[in-house]
Amino acid sequence: MKKTVALTADRPTGKLHLGHFVGSLKNRIELQHECDQYIMIADTQAFTDYFEQPQLVIDNVLEVAADYLAVGLDPNLSTIFIQSRIPQLCELTMYYMNLVSVARLQRNPTVKAELVHKNFGPSVPVGFLCYPVSQAADITAFGTEIVPVGEDQLPMLEQTNEIVRRFNRIYNTNCLKEAHARLGKTKRLTGIDGKAKASKSLNNAIFLSDAPGVIKEKVYAMFTDPHHLKVSDHGRVKGNVVFEYLDAFYDNAEELSSLKAQYKKGGLGDITLKSLLNDTLQELLLPIREKRSHLSRKNLLEICMDGTQKAETVAKMTLNEVKKSMGINYF
Ligand code: ATP
Ligand code: MG
Repeated sequence: MKKTVALTADRPTGKLHLGHFVGSLKNRIELQHECDQYIMIADTQAFTDYFEQPQLVIDNVLEVAADYLAVGLDPNLSTIFIQSRIPQLCELTMYYMNLVSVARLQRNPTVKAELVHKNFGPSVPVGFLCYPVSQAADITAFGTEIVPVGEDQLPMLEQTNEIVRRFNRIYNTNCLKEAHARLGKTKRLTGIDGKAKASKSLNNAIFLSDAPGVIKEKVYAMFTDPHHLKVSDHGRVKGNVVFEYLDAFYDNAEELSSLKAQYKKGGLGDITLKSLLNDTLQELLLPIREKRSHLSRKNLLEICMDGTQKAETVAKMTLNEVKKSMGINYF
């Protein structure tokens, strides 16, 4: 029987952080044992909004590859590749662009929020507006069935599946497959500042490669309950970033629920909680940082090259099928 295919991508605009870890990396580590897994370093997509800072993108390609290996993705089990080296993805995007209206792209909630955040207005670059279409190309190029992502990516999958259905209907084929999201246990990790999402661009994340002192500083700067001034005060758990992180990373659920009860009643200080979270994160990130420090540039480049070759072979086959379905396989 043919194996299920999983695909995901991260944009190399910075190193990976704990949001990536709980949102998708943990699922990818599990899926690599069950699926044919493709993991794309999305440099082409990064250029849709960082085209004026090419060096930032270039410098982060191998940093992201290093994060993948450090966290436990195994290049023997997962195919790690670089998007810009696979021209077939651009070609697929071109055909899919005919199947989506500008209004539909503007309605995509994730794109809508980004357009406001980046203050693009009517001068939004065409490439940026079309990035969900290029994501549809990335996903379908590998016959993907599972996409391990955070919640913010759900509108992209919906868009992909609309394209798949439309393509298959118009060209009377079933060569494209619909894909489904695999959400992490924590669908959206809050930023250390309490903002909706820990993110590179908001600079409110703890990175997998942060030094111990930086991790501690970030934990101690976390937003808790502004009305919890004395240890004896009643405290709020909901919206308290330290508890959100403990929910995501502290394994002892029973102890955590008794800490929550104690905090609500009064008698548990923020410093005690932050110290527990700091210890938890230091323990999680130490082996990742250690593994990262042993990876050489040469080794990372080789892994990306091998993966890219393998991915290109598959993307070529899909593109051939797509063109055949459209009837443009002239000779
Ligand atoms: P940027 O700020 O440049 O948009 P980002 O840090 O938000 O970058 P993305 O490249 O947009 O990261 O996301 C890559 C993957 O990681 C996606 O699957 C996304 O859902 C997931 N992810 C990123 N941040 C979080 C988070 N805070 N919580 C859960 N999942 C996340
Ligand atoms: Mg993002």
